[in-house]
Amino acid sequence: MPTHSANGRLTIDLEAIVANWKKLANKASHKNCAAVVKANGYGLGAVEVSHALFNAGCREFFVATVEEGVELRKAIKEATIYIFSGFNRKAAKTYKSKQLIPVINSLSGIADWQSYATASMKCALHVDTGMNRLGLSESDVSLLADDQEPYGKFNPSLIISHFACADDPGNPLNNQQIEAFSHAASLFPNARKSLANSAGIFIGKSAHFDMLRPGIALYGGEAVNTVNNPMKPVLKLEGRIIQIRQAKKGESVGYGACGKLERDSVIAVVGIGYADGLHRSTSGAGTPSRTYFSQPGIAGMIGKHKAPLIGRVSMDLTTYDVTDIPSKALADADWIELINNHITVDDVAASAGTIGYEILTSLGKRYERIYKNR
Ligand SMILES: *Cc1c(COP(=O)(O)O)cnc(C)c1O
Repeated sequence: MPTHSANGRLTIDLEAIVANWKKLANKASHKNCAAVVKANGYGLGAVEVSHALFNAGCREFFVATVEEGVELRKAIKEATIYIFSGFNRKAAKTYKSKQLIPVINSLSGIADWQSYATASMKCALHVDTGMNRLGLSESDVSLLADDQEPYGKFNPSLIISHFACADDPGNPLNNQQIEAFSHAASLFPNARKSLANSAGIFIGKSAHFDMLRPGIALYGGEAVNTVNNPMKPVLKLEGRIIQIRQAKKGESVGYGACGKLERDSVIAVVGIGYADGLHRSTSGAGTPSRTYFSQPGIAGMIGKHKAPLIGRVSMDLTTYDVTDIPSKALADADWIELINNHITVDDVAASAGTIGYEILTSLGKRYERIYKNR
């Protein structure tokens, strides 16, 4: 277990997550908003996040796997827990004993479920509307709708589908998926219906159906491209400054001697690296960090001063050019902030050529985790 001596620290603001959940819920007239907490709550702690949301009134949670469902059930007795990956025969008994609701994704999954489940056990159904990932195809769905044996008594309580391009509001596939979903879902008049992930919520009421299903926006991440992110930042990520060193013009920093010094420099050596989810590509292989800094590669902040990364990210260490930071501010600083209210998780992602989802779910196990407003 990481302790207070950890070289990395995550501060997760549960009140901000709750505020984001409420904001999303309020976009729909029915205000019925579940929470997607798969992959350990996008890296931020499924149990802690779900507790906070449950206390705020959220009752329905989605995870990816049975194991994640079991962990969440331990923490919250009364929650409704859906398993995106469907019904896994190897864990059949667990669905009943832990009251986990499979989101069934195929005809064979329905057959498995029907051979196992008793009448009181609930299930959900995923229909594909254009993603070609999980879910019944249109022709599969019509088999069900015709009540053909062996599917005659199949009676899901929830129908879902998933957007492929909701992050791009102008994409014509969005409306096609809404129409395909309306049609497929109308064949199950007794089931509730859910289509919108975070980005889908911003498409508007036509995408809201009976339940919203956000993940990334709860955690403050950017859901929709090209618009200002309206969600509250949730995460502060800090690395401990473990050494300050002086280096001469003409010398270099780090592996590959990539960080060439064009002046006598002061370097802060920080104790987190790619093993902590600060991808090596944040050295600047992607596009420059967007909103706050203009150089390629990530940058940190020491107090209000900015410090660009210099050299390559290594496994346990990163190095920052702190030459321009006043020596008093530097002497007082124990930590550098790499994600905060100014540097978003999506800024870091852009530097690495990836998306905020991947940065969050890559955060390693070595951090001290501090939950604010628990
Ligand atoms: C992950 C996931 C979500 C949540 O998506 P976000 O883009 O994070 O809001 C919703 N539905 C399904 C099926 C998912 O796999």
